[in-house]
Amino acid sequence: MDFDNTTRTDLSSLGEFGLINHLTQHIEIKNPETIYGTGDDAAVLNFGDNHTVVTTDMLVEGVHFDLSYVPLKHLGYKSVVVNLSDVYAMNAQPKQITVAIAISSKFSLEAVEELYAGMLMACKKYEVDLVGGDTTSSTSGLIISITAIGVAKKEDIVYRSGAKETDLLCVSGDLGGAYMGLQILEREKAVFKENPNLQPDLEGKDYILERQLKPEAQREIIHLLEQIKVKPTAMIDVSDGLASEIMHICKQSNVGVELYEEKIPIDPLTYETAREFNLDPTLCALSGGEDYELLFTIPIGDYDKIKHLPDFTVIGHITNEAKGKNLITKSGTSVELKAQGWDGLKH
Ligand code: ADP
Ligand code: MG
Repeated sequence: MDFDNTTRTDLSSLGEFGLINHLTQHIEIKNPETIYGTGDDAAVLNFGDNHTVVTTDMLVEGVHFDLSYVPLKHLGYKSVVVNLSDVYAMNAQPKQITVAIAISSKFSLEAVEELYAGMLMACKKYEVDLVGGDTTSSTSGLIISITAIGVAKKEDIVYRSGAKETDLLCVSGDLGGAYMGLQILEREKAVFKENPNLQPDLEGKDYILERQLKPEAQREIIHLLEQIKVKPTAMIDVSDGLASEIMHICKQSNVGVELYEEKIPIDPLTYETAREFNLDPTLCALSGGEDYELLFTIPIGDYDKIKHLPDFTVIGHITNEAKGKNLITKSGTSVELKAQGWDGLKH
């Protein structure tokens, strides 16, 4: 391979999504079985009556998790769940996973067994089969890469690109909790470093700690939508934060949005903990990420079918692209919605 050594571009100048776009922009699909390649929560393949969806996520020690406060069993569970979440975000049912791990010599057999116990627990709960993978050594910690395979009827698949003007923007569950759980864990880690004799103060924080350490994929939401015969026009899972996911739907659907701050569902414990950390709860929901809720749009005509259901909240509506992407604040002013980075969260 020929590398041009004269130019050197920092990866940070592109950002994660810029890098993915850059790497995938010239990929040409060669097989008629490949219905949709990169750019959504999962790829879509056609091998007959049903479509297959495939998605991969990688978790790297020191980047995505910190083993000083994440138990290996929880890590195994979460690493499977985050992949299943992408399958549900296509409105498909996950069926199989493969697991590739790179492990360093600091891990014992017992430690890897714990990791697998968590993975298999998630497989059991979500009824998926672990059908293969790869195992290799690593010089610097643990790397887990999981691929999930799911199926759906062709007409049931929901892409990020189908949102239409006047559609309602909805989200399941509540947001910002996983981020606040992480703040608690980071704080207690810092306290422990200062004084190893102090016990961590995690009391009363169970809900947000669980949101961070043991998230769930939204299988029930997919089933509920099917039951009430509502097919979203666009859907994505909330892995990077509400604002970022809304931007993906808007960009891929060529639409704008009005998001109402007062409608964003935030659990009281998340709210209270954000205040404790001197953080704006709304910003935590917008930029926090890792909630693994489903964000979707539905035709306004379906409003009557969902309005009494506690499982999701209407948080805004889709507008013409020219109107832009706006957050209507609690005081009624309209501000441009931004996929804010982590730095923006501190007051
Ligand atoms: P998610 O947060 O839903 O897991 P990502 O933002 O990681 O999605 O990825 C968005 C899209 O880009 C997906 O279709 C994914 O398959 C694709 N993608 C991500 N990284 C790469 C890569 N290195 N090479 C090819 N495609 C990639
Ligand atoms: Mg996703």
